[in-house]
Amino acid sequence: MIFYNAQKKRTLFIVMTEQKLVIYNTLTRQKEDFKPINPPFVGLYVCGPTVYSDVHLGNARTFVSFDMIYRYLVHLGYKVRYVRNITDAGHLEGDRDEGDDKFAKKAKLEQLEPMEIVQKYTNGFHEVMREMNTLPPSIEPTATGHICEQIEMVKKILAKGYAYEINGTVYFDVEKYNKEFPYGQLTNRKLEELLEGTRELSGQDEKKGRLDFALWIKAKPETLMQWPSPWGPGFPGWHIECSAMSSKYLGDTFDIHGGGMDLQATHHTNEIAQSQACNHTAPVNYWMHTNMLTVNGVRMSKTAGNGFLPGELFTGNHPLLDKGYAPMAVRFFMMQTHYGSTLDFSNEALQASEKGYAKLMNAMKTVDSLKASATSTSNIKELQQNCYDAMNDDFNAPIVVANLFEGVRIINSVNDGKETITADDLALLKTTMQDFVYDVLGLKSENSNTANDKALQGVMEMILSIRKDAKQNKDFATSDKIRKELEAIGIQIKDSKEKTEWSF
Ligand SMILES: [Zn+2]
Repeated sequence: MIFYNAQKKRTLFIVMTEQKLVIYNTLTRQKEDFKPINPPFVGLYVCGPTVYSDVHLGNARTFVSFDMIYRYLVHLGYKVRYVRNITDAGHLEGDRDEGDDKFAKKAKLEQLEPMEIVQKYTNGFHEVMREMNTLPPSIEPTATGHICEQIEMVKKILAKGYAYEINGTVYFDVEKYNKEFPYGQLTNRKLEELLEGTRELSGQDEKKGRLDFALWIKAKPETLMQWPSPWGPGFPGWHIECSAMSSKYLGDTFDIHGGGMDLQATHHTNEIAQSQACNHTAPVNYWMHTNMLTVNGVRMSKTAGNGFLPGELFTGNHPLLDKGYAPMAVRFFMMQTHYGSTLDFSNEALQASEKGYAKLMNAMKTVDSLKASATSTSNIKELQQNCYDAMNDDFNAPIVVANLFEGVRIINSVNDGKETITADDLALLKTTMQDFVYDVLGLKSENSNTANDKALQGVMEMILSIRKDAKQNKDFATSDKIRKELEAIGIQIKDSKEKTEWSF
């Protein structure tokens, strides 16, 4: 991503030192000044998808949110190593080591090799990420590609006395760990409270403690994905991969770890315990979590039957959706809620976002044709700083969007001749809009430069030219008919002295 910055004419490193970024840290439950361990470098790890089914919308929201966070850090001039893993082994149905292996079960169902399942859903995930205009991470490591690192880490945790082996499976000893380190610190809960919420061990359980979790799981002879280990053939537990891969690529302690808030209580809590037990240092300085999704105010879930996939949202192919929404309208919709707040989907809200996104993109075109004057009626410097202030306050994208609409208002007023802008302010306005709309929020003009877009442009030019001729011939019936019929299909036209413009 250094190349991304190198393309910029301005030296963004200066921006980084000027702007004071504050991040809400889940671990301390407060906003803290962002101080990277080794500036200008920043280590960012985000838990990626488990690729045994289509990526769901909650995950897509998490990755779009962290894409915006990554983009802003890069924009400020930080050299970010962004690691987002692919979980392609070791994830059982229950987060506490119960149930079948998700990949093996799907492989049987679809009659494919487990690695075909992995490839199929990895491809699908990448396609959704591309449609939503997320930047690829710097490293996208897989669990199956890091079995050796995971075995090494389990060996170290065993050697330090925080784990035990029973019959080929290695468990993390939570109660022993908790004597030295607070196990439930990420969710601010004491061990006694956590124990109360866990079922009693039965005679069939091998593990010693109710909260103990598997670091390495013994394979059955029929297990499809298994590897040799010092404890016999098996596969890694789900949590160990993130500890092993984050420390390999970002060090024993790194800056930011993110994920969905559903990962906080078990997966991230166990990641902290594993890393702390292995390295005797806290692995992460800032923990960040994205909030959940609701549909018409009800939590989105498989059991509620109200969960749609990103692909269904784009095509409208779901009973709860009136129509399909372009990926950029969806991304814009996501940016209008803070990443730490619940995001509520409804047809009304999506349609409002679609209109807002179109208005924003029209203004991005109009700004290029504005003419400068001797004086400015608006304070553009203040507008730019308001955008930075919002992002510096824990990446508050919705406030940025509100400020960008102030920019849209200024652009349209100057275009209509109601306000004026100096050449310097116009350059600053363009930079501010481009920086925040494209670079930081990660929006782009939908379908721009496609064959369809060019054809539409040509057809509209022809229609407007016919209308112009009709008006010149005083054939107002025809010119009005064209205007009204375009309006009926959602295209507005606006006449000014010099030209006629059209927009959705
Ligand atoms: Zn993880």
